[in-house]
Amino acid sequence: MVIVVGGGPAGIACAVQLKRSGIPVKIIERKRAGGLVWNAWRIENYPGFPEGISGEELAERLERHLEEWDIPVLQEEVKRIEPGFRIFTNRNTHETEFVVVASGTIPKKPGIPGEDEVFYEVVDIPSQKGSVTVVGGGDIAFDYAINLSSRGYRVRIVARGVRALSLLQERAKERGVKIYTGWEIKGLEKTCVYAWKEGEVAFSSDYVLLATGRLPNVDFIDKRALKEKNLFLAGDVKNGFMRQVAIACGDGVKTAMKIRRMYEGNF
Ligand SMILES: Cc1cc2nc3c(=O)[nH]c(=O)nc-3n(C[C@H](O)[C@H](O)[C@H](O)COP(=O)(O)OP(=O)(O)OC[C@H]3O[C@@H](n4cnc5c(N)ncnc54)[C@H](O)[C@@H]3O)c2cc1C
Repeated sequence: MVIVVGGGPAGIACAVQLKRSGIPVKIIERKRAGGLVWNAWRIENYPGFPEGISGEELAERLERHLEEWDIPVLQEEVKRIEPGFRIFTNRNTHETEFVVVASGTIPKKPGIPGEDEVFYEVVDIPSQKGSVTVVGGGDIAFDYAINLSSRGYRVRIVARGVRALSLLQERAKERGVKIYTGWEIKGLEKTCVYAWKEGEVAFSSDYVLLATGRLPNVDFIDKRALKEKNLFLAGDVKNGFMRQVAIACGDGVKTAMKIRRMYEGNF
C-alpha cells in the first residue's frame, strides 16, 4: 500500500499512475482534493487546454479523476510521519511501506503585527462581496486580485515592489484593480493595512488577503523518516520557486514510476 499525503495535482497524478500500475494507493487530504488550484483564477500553461481553464474547473476535474479511478481519499490531516512508516493524523494512525508527501506549500508569514488576523487564500474570502486589500507584488497576489475583481469585489494591491508577470499586471489594471507600490507594510488588522511611504496611511477594506510568498510544507515529517528511501517528496513541496501544475503532475507520475520499480523488486 502506498499512502499519498496531499490531494493536489502532484498527489493525484501519482495516485492515478499507481492505480494504473495495479498498486494499491490511498490519499490523505486535509481539505478538498484539487489543492492550491482551487485558488487560481485561470491556468493557461497546462497543455491540453488551449483556451486556458479556470482554477475551479481544473480542480473539479482533478477531483473527478480520483473518483473515476476509485481512489480513496481520507479526509484527515497528517500531524506526524514517523519512520517505518507510521502516519499519525487528527483521526487515525496508518501504517504503510511507501509514503509520498505531496503536501505543497504553506503561506510565508512576513512577521508583521496582526498577521494572524487576515486571510491567506482566495477560497477563504467570504462570498459576501465587498472590498479587498491584497498585500504582495508577485504572480499569486496579482492572480488573487484578478480573480476577486472578476467575481465582483473591489480590489486594491499594496506592495513594496511588483514582480508579477507584466501580463498579469495589465489584466489587473484592465479590471480596475488599484495598484499602490513602494509601500512598506507596518501592521495588519482584519480590515486594515497600515503602510508607510513618506508617512503612514491606513488602507481600509472589508477583507485583507496576504500573498507574501510560500514555504515548503514539511514540518510534520520526522527527520529520520525524511531520510528513508521509501519516502518521496513530489510537487511544490520540493520545487522551490518552480511551482506549476504541469511540474507537480510530472513529479507525481515520476514518483509513481519509481515506486513501481521498487515494488516489483526491479531496481
Ligand atoms: C493564485 C494561484 C495561481 C496559480 N496559477 C497557476 C498557473 O496559472 N499555472 C500553473 O501551472 N500553476 C499555477 N499555480 C500553482 C499551482 O496551483 C501549484 O503549482 C500546484 O497546485 C502544486 O500542486 P501540489 O500538488 O504540489 O500542491 P498543492 O496544490 O498545494 O496541494 C497540496 C495538498 O496537500 C494538502 N495537505 C497539505 N498538508 C497536509 C496535511 N498535513 N495532511 C493532509 N493534507 C495536506 C493540501 O490541503 C493540498 O490539497 C497557482 C497557484 C496559486 C496559489
